[in-house]
Amino acid sequence: MTDRKTELAANLAKVEERIAAACEAAGRGRGEVTLIVVTKTYPASDVRILAELGVRHVAENRDQDAAPKAAACADLPLKWHFVGQLQTNKVRSVVGYADVVQSVDRARLVTALSKEAVRAGREVGCLLQVALDAGESARGERGGVAPGGIEELAGLVAESPGLRLDGLMTVAPLTGEYAGRERAAFERLMDLSTDLRRAHPAATMVSAGMSADLEKAVAAGATHVRVGTAVLGVRPRLG
Ligand SMILES: *Cc1c(COP(=O)(O)O)cnc(C)c1O
Repeated sequence: MTDRKTELAANLAKVEERIAAACEAAGRGRGEVTLIVVTKTYPASDVRILAELGVRHVAENRDQDAAPKAAACADLPLKWHFVGQLQTNKVRSVVGYADVVQSVDRARLVTALSKEAVRAGREVGCLLQVALDAGESARGERGGVAPGGIEELAGLVAESPGLRLDGLMTVAPLTGEYAGRERAAFERLMDLSTDLRRAHPAATMVSAGMSADLEKAVAAGATHVRVGTAVLGVRPRLG
């Protein structure tokens, strides 16, 4: 193995151990939690190594970086998740490679995604990004719909051609009532998911937890964790 492959294999093994231990502690089966490796700022060569090591889900947050990477890795058996704030002028490009957009947070974005998904003949999975630091009806500073806006936005996704409502996503807030209370934030997201599934039973995905807090997300009931640093290393620049 190359040095990088050895390094990534060791990091993946540690993350796998953490997820397995968190599942065990929560009385959940390991199969209930899917690892998504966040490859932002890292090269396509790393994505290729991850695929060789068995990773099947990767995530990116900037279309400029993600589009060429996804193209370079088009031969690999990967599902691509888009997890960044998304401008409508990037939607056509993102729909070209993303299987799931986890950052759906406003009606205008839903309309644009639907139009481009239909045009491309693709079905795009959508997670509503929930801002737990927003007021009841505002949007979060880093994107996300406030809890009070979920029902309406979910309805819009569900009735939009080319889109599939898959569930909810959040990032633990740095400000507001949930600052420093990741477990409580993730439990709130689970409650919102329970509400959502009353009207949309197939929207079962709950994406929460990153390198620093994946155990808390698994304990709360997350179905998907998004891990970057713990697998790939500390990012060379903010992303
Ligand atoms: C970067 C990023 C992650 C991964 O964060 P790490 O702390 O590196 O594990 C997860 N989710 C989103 C939305 C991100 O932008």
